[in-house]
Amino acid sequence: GRTLGVLGGGQLGRMFVHTAQAMGYGTVVLDPDPDSPAGQVSHHHIQAGYDDPQGLAELARLADAVTTEFENVPAAALATLAARRPVAPAANAVALAQDRAQEKAHFVRCGVRCAPYAVIASAEQLAAAPAELLPGILKTLRLGYDGKGQRRVTTAAELSAAWHSLGQQPCVLEQWLALALECSVIVARGADGSIVHLPVQRNLHRDAILAVTEVYAGNLPQALVEQALQAAISIANGLQYVGLLCVEFFVLQDGSLVVNEIAPRPHNSGHYSQNACDLSQFELQLRTLAGLPLTAPRQHSPAVMLNLLGELWFAQGAVAQTPPWAEVLALPGTHLHLYGKGQARPGRKMGHLNVTGPSPQAARATALKAAALLGIAPF
Ligand code: ATP
Ligand code: MG
Ligand code: MG
Repeated sequence: GRTLGVLGGGQLGRMFVHTAQAMGYGTVVLDPDPDSPAGQVSHHHIQAGYDDPQGLAELARLADAVTTEFENVPAAALATLAARRPVAPAANAVALAQDRAQEKAHFVRCGVRCAPYAVIASAEQLAAAPAELLPGILKTLRLGYDGKGQRRVTTAAELSAAWHSLGQQPCVLEQWLALALECSVIVARGADGSIVHLPVQRNLHRDAILAVTEVYAGNLPQALVEQALQAAISIANGLQYVGLLCVEFFVLQDGSLVVNEIAPRPHNSGHYSQNACDLSQFELQLRTLAGLPLTAPRQHSPAVMLNLLGELWFAQGAVAQTPPWAEVLALPGTHLHLYGKGQARPGRKMGHLNVTGPSPQAARATALKAAALLGIAPF
């Protein structure tokens, strides 16, 4: 039998492993955490650092092809593996997505508009930061997620203080934009250049963490949907990307579309596809990795996804308690996904709830009931 490898052991790897196993593949996960969500469920778990040469050699020995699920795996590790096995996505695409300056330069090359920005990597660049970028948001070039490594700044003095508080590491300053809404697109691109996409997802973030994704007809203006799809496809084609890619967008209050960032892996905003589409994002990822045909995914049910963050375990008080799953699952069309993480902590992604329904109104009504039961604010 064939075995598929994953660099990274988080929840995205876990759901990929489940999909691969359902299709008869063996799986091997490399992650240093002995209790990692993906390592727990994989046939093989190599407990080693992402750049450990022995661990990588073992991964290449056991796996017929390797993917990644974690944005910050060292791109060099993927390059090392690629010398021995097919790897998707490729090291260069992952490296680009790990660096906000390279990422934005790629958007510009593809003719896709992003927020006005400047790189701030030195005291000179700090002093020369254009005033029109304020108020703005300063983001570290590397290693940020869920809003970590970001500071909102209004004045030049605040900008300087923020850059110093981030340890003077290389950053981008982006203009703070007036958002009407946020959306994202997931594309899957094969080695032969064939490309398919999931429907455009509408996303609600709270405290810079994805809270709710809603996907159904009429949710977004059609012109915007087409623009977002075109932009995502240009970004993937421009990278000769192979694998699954998510592109995050802002929609401004004037209705125009601006690209935010890319994720070279399955994405939290694509989880609804597990229960609402005939191909999930994880099966699309698998098909790109295994060289299987890519057919256009079809959404068969309107869907709402609720992220289940660690604070829900503390909704009743200071001691962690299991949320009322049975009451939630008594609502028709609810699908619970939990990641097997031991400790609930505020802000930690513990799982998600997919809600499907016969109509957008029905899916939304059920999702709002589930949210009320769980202590998630209405949306
Ligand atoms: P992720 O977990 O998605 O990787 P991240 O840490 O890379 O998040 P961003 O996607 O850059 O963070 O920003 C997080 C959120 O902050 C955005 O989804 C958006 O709500 C808000 N945000 C970021 N940049 C801007 C901006 N320039 N103008 C307005 N809002 C912004
Ligand atoms: Mg990000
Ligand atoms: Mg983001």
